Amino acid sequence: MEKLSNPQKTIETIKKYQFNFQKKFGQNFLIDEHVISKIILGAQVTKDDFVLEIGPGIGTMTQYMAEAAREVAAVEIDRKLIPILNETLFEYDNVTIINEDILKVDIRALAMERNDGKPIKVVANLPYYITTPIIMGLFESHVPIDNITVMVQKEVADRMKVGPGSKDYGALSLAVQYYAEPYLVANVPANCFIPRPNVDSAVIRLTRHKTPAVSVDNEELLFNMIRASFNQRRKTLQNGLKNSNLVTATKEDIVDAIREVGLPETIRGEALTLEQFAGLANVLNKKIN
Ligand code: SAM
Repeated sequence: MEKLSNPQKTIETIKKYQFNFQKKFGQNFLIDEHVISKIILGAQVTKDDFVLEIGPGIGTMTQYMAEAAREVAAVEIDRKLIPILNETLFEYDNVTIINEDILKVDIRALAMERNDGKPIKVVANLPYYITTPIIMGLFESHVPIDNITVMVQKEVADRMKVGPGSKDYGALSLAVQYYAEPYLVANVPANCFIPRPNVDSAVIRLTRHKTPAVSVDNEELLFNMIRASFNQRRKTLQNGLKNSNLVTATKEDIVDAIREVGLPETIRGEALTLEQFAGLANVLNKKIN
């Protein structure tokens, strides 16, 4: 079968099934073979790998993934796409199509069943509004994962990669970098999709650290402090933490902890590295326990 990366084949397939694009599912389908090759290469998929593909659409990337991986499970929410996927992936006996909302799939059980509990690779091109919760959910729930290669809005990719000093630095940068090493795989202009989205995209690979990038005694406190600091960007770190109900420490403990780790009183949260946040969280944790 001719590959769907050929735009004519994609258009023909959509027409044949009278498929209507659903905005609520963020449906923009890739039509650029070069980008797909970069994603497959960037995801470091080998014939030993079990790959979970989230949101296969009409199966454009899945066709290539099936050739690169040992096994692919493709989870697609839109039931109207299932007959299409059955046709476009007919040739590949190592692909399982699952018609489900990814948020309802027990990914840990899938990894146990299909990959003996060994780390899996995840590839996703999803509506932007669910991408962050899915990535964070995957990391936080400690599902065995090697890496997640995900297509996101260009700005979101930037936010994941940067450190202090950039306007894009924020809670997402710190959360991602705590769990993983981000690497920009490709920039993807809007014209690589049908229909054309309003924004440019980027593919980013998040390689999971064997252990988190920094060691903290209380992960929840670390993340609450990060959230509190960036919720009120204009405030100093001290005021951000004092005024947030995310952090239960007393004002005195907060002031003392900042002093003890050697940070200036007037520093803003956005100036702190992940290591500095972790150091502060460990000192504050001792004070509140
Ligand atoms: N991967 C395909 C491609 O690159 O051509 C399609 C990408 S399209 C941007 C996003 C896909 O994710 C759509 O097929 C959409 O129906 C699916 N999707 C949206 N929300 C989903 C969810 N919660 N669970 C599973 N699939 C979802």
